[in-house]
Amino acid sequence: MLWGLDFRKDYRRVCEIVCLLDEVPTLMLTATATNAVKADVCNVLAVEDAAVIARLPNRPNIFLHLLKVKENFEEELSWLIGCLKKGQTKCPKILVYCRNVRAVYQMYMWVMEELGDQAYAGRHHSVDCRLVEMFHSKADQESMERIMTNFPKEDSHIRLLFATIAFGMGVQINDVDIVVHWGLEQSALQYWQEVGRCARDGRPGLAVTYALSRTITTCKDKAMKEVATCSTCCRVQLLQMFAIDSAGAEELETLKLKSNCEQNCLQMCQCALCSCCSNCQVDCCCPSRASSFLERLEKMYVVFLTCFKILAF
Ligand SMILES: [Zn+2]
Ligand SMILES: [Zn+2]
Ligand SMILES: [Zn+2]
Repeated sequence: MLWGLDFRKDYRRVCEIVCLLDEVPTLMLTATATNAVKADVCNVLAVEDAAVIARLPNRPNIFLHLLKVKENFEEELSWLIGCLKKGQTKCPKILVYCRNVRAVYQMYMWVMEELGDQAYAGRHHSVDCRLVEMFHSKADQESMERIMTNFPKEDSHIRLLFATIAFGMGVQINDVDIVVHWGLEQSALQYWQEVGRCARDGRPGLAVTYALSRTITTCKDKAMKEVATCSTCCRVQLLQMFAIDSAGAEELETLKLKSNCEQNCLQMCQCALCSCCSNCQVDCCCPSRASSFLERLEKMYVVFLTCFKILAF
């Protein structure tokens, strides 16, 4: 919780001005804050009796899929190759967060090799029609700019981006369909901010987290570890840390109450359990509930097709 220490340091000096303005109402706003961050903000700004108005930063349109896996990304992520081969420039927009630059590079090289000629939209093997890119702090300025200019576009030729946490701050992309985490993020706060880059325009989004056993063992963030290992709703588990004071507690209670599907859904069950997370989904007894990650992916494409008129797979 390094609020203001590593980001906009001057925020920590705001109280110097506030102290000069006696009896002036002050409004403090933030997007995502935990109880610890709230306490730090009040402490640094010397606020003793703040009235807190908070809402849970829930993103109900994003399905959370948690998978406990070993290191083998070629096997686990092979669906990426299938998506790109079939979809090409109409493939859902996918953002994959990796733990380090080495992993980004490794995965990028693997996908490019697997795709061969199909890694490009059209016949020319030019960077301007490459379907896959990578973004990390060691990338050259030109590549970074190319990605930052193209990836946000609705008709972007970049459909799959491998990135480290270097890809984040100030990024505004509305139509990312899938956010993948290969390995656990260092903190649950960071994780939720990255998940939040999915489906900002309200489309059905998918956040897939590959909880590698190694990263579970080495994760120092208690909240992140709990999300990755819990057997109950991981959305509720995660949002708990944002339930500041009593505010949000009521919302959290409503989230816990999910009723089972009472219909025989045809394509993909969209009940409260099936649209929440992989842990909730197993409790649904509807015949059309997706029973595995790949099945969900396939069923979601059907939904993508009907919703967004993508391309017939
Ligand atoms: Zn859930
Ligand atoms: Zn159903
Ligand atoms: Zn269901």
